[in-house]
Amino acid sequence: MNKAIFWDLLGTLGGSSHTLINNNFEFFDHAIPALQKATENNYLNIIITNQSHIAHNRLTLEEYNDSLKKLIIRLEDKGIKITEVYTCPHAKKDNCQCKKPQPLLVNQAIKKYDLNQNESFIIGDSGKNDMLLANNSNMKSILVLTGEGIKSLTDSRQLWSEMRPTHIAEDSLDAVNKIVLFL
Ligand SMILES: [Mg+2]
Ligand SMILES: [Zn+2]
Repeated sequence: MNKAIFWDLLGTLGGSSHTLINNNFEFFDHAIPALQKATENNYLNIIITNQSHIAHNRLTLEEYNDSLKKLIIRLEDKGIKITEVYTCPHAKKDNCQCKKPQPLLVNQAIKKYDLNQNESFIIGDSGKNDMLLANNSNMKSILVLTGEGIKSLTDSRQLWSEMRPTHIAEDSLDAVNKIVLFL
């Protein structure tokens, strides 16, 4: 069996909610060493992201795929392999089954990559999306304090009050350090 880290993209590895639309996404400084360390420790890196901007026509699917391709190439240049990117392009009103925090895409990945759920993690900055996704897919979770992380723990805490993250980390690198340390 394999183990994986499911990474949220925006607010966790870089950028913020509008950076793909504005075409100015940058990785956070800690994201590259975090992904490298995850790779060194035999975690598959999987990105899982809600992109309702596509449904709202703020970004075409083609523009999104172009941006994504550039990001992946930048990571490959640093020796980082992204196993797969799972995207929900829908709006909330579409009532799809792939939008975080629903576990459909994670469950697909578990089957496709023969993942051991006990050894895999979901890392993100959103309590109501990423942490509830971990809860809904029976996986360990790490909330990072970048992006909306602080807001998730304060103003938005009531939206995911039924669970606690396995760990809370300063940023993506601190998150991987905690995974390696506590394993
Ligand atoms: Mg996020
Ligand atoms: Zn969807």
